Amino acid sequence: MKKTLEQLTRPNVWALKPYSSARDEYKGVTASVFLDANESPYNAPLNRYPDPLQLQLKAEIAKIKGVTPEHIFLGNGSDEAIDLVFRAFCEPRKDNVVAIDPTYGMYQVCADVNDVDYRKVLLDADFQFKADDLLAAADEHTKAIFLCSPNNPTGNNLLADEIHKLLEQFDGLVIVDEAYCDFSEAPSFATQLQRYPNLIVLQTFSKAWGCAAIRLGMAFASEAIIALFNKIKYPYNVNLLTQQQALEMLRRSPEVGCWVATLKAERAYLMEEFSKLSLTKHVYPSDANFFLARVTDAVSIYNYLVSRGIIVRNRNSVSLCGNCLRITIGIRSENEALLKALREYK
Ligand code: PMP
Repeated sequence: MKKTLEQLTRPNVWALKPYSSARDEYKGVTASVFLDANESPYNAPLNRYPDPLQLQLKAEIAKIKGVTPEHIFLGNGSDEAIDLVFRAFCEPRKDNVVAIDPTYGMYQVCADVNDVDYRKVLLDADFQFKADDLLAAADEHTKAIFLCSPNNPTGNNLLADEIHKLLEQFDGLVIVDEAYCDFSEAPSFATQLQRYPNLIVLQTFSKAWGCAAIRLGMAFASEAIIALFNKIKYPYNVNLLTQQQALEMLRRSPEVGCWVATLKAERAYLMEEFSKLSLTKHVYPSDANFFLARVTDAVSIYNYLVSRGIIVRNRNSVSLCGNCLRITIGIRSENEALLKALREYK
């Protein structure tokens, strides 16, 4: 990374004096009388503000991810971390970001909300990208490049060699969104943080961990980037119930491992059966808990499935995804219900 973090950061954010909460000022464990935060003395433990830095939870996540807690940011879904990238680094109406297309829609939404130019670079027919094409779309105002691997909605891993090339050659930040990495055989880029100070890896409890409802996302990056995120996030961005439930899920990680193994087996089964349907034109390979399929008429098949009480994602109007449906892997009975309905489609 040729630019320093200070050069990449918005000047107001770099200079910001963060809000100091009562729980930031007092971090000891020996006190027993807490009259500092205007909380109610009733209704323990929900009466107390949660740990603003979620240290207990980060310690447990650190163990399974092979990073230290200082390299972890936790947010209200990984969507919070995506938004923080814009708020920390991108000057509205001046800076821009580059992203692959098609990909997860929130990068563009956050860019639009923050009034930051969003430059899309189309993937090739195999849904792969070339680092050189993304670099060619960047200029001196490009603060970040967004990658998603396995990519949504295409389902495939991006080529690791091209990601490495981008991390080496790009002056700014490279975000690798690994929301679906637990379903993939590819190693996580979270192990590459020491090598690349410009890398931000995103993961989430919403997919493999079965916890979309608790809203817990993770960002892994250099200590300096994590410190910036902590400086501008809402003080108590991850609530106590979420922290407790995530700790409980980490204790249950063998069970989560079984869910993932089952879903990978179901993925192979459903994709195989789906490819045999007369309405199927092509089933794209998947490294995620969903797959993309080109069908004869995505809009009409989508509407037919809705009428049968089965909801899939119609990606017909997305770049390169004309007549494509995105199908999440369910349990066997759900997958069978989908196949049965599609066999009866006329
Ligand atoms: N990244 C990708 C690629 C996603 O598909 C999604 C959700 N569909 C997210 C991030 C958002 O995850 P979270 O629930 O952690 O906000």
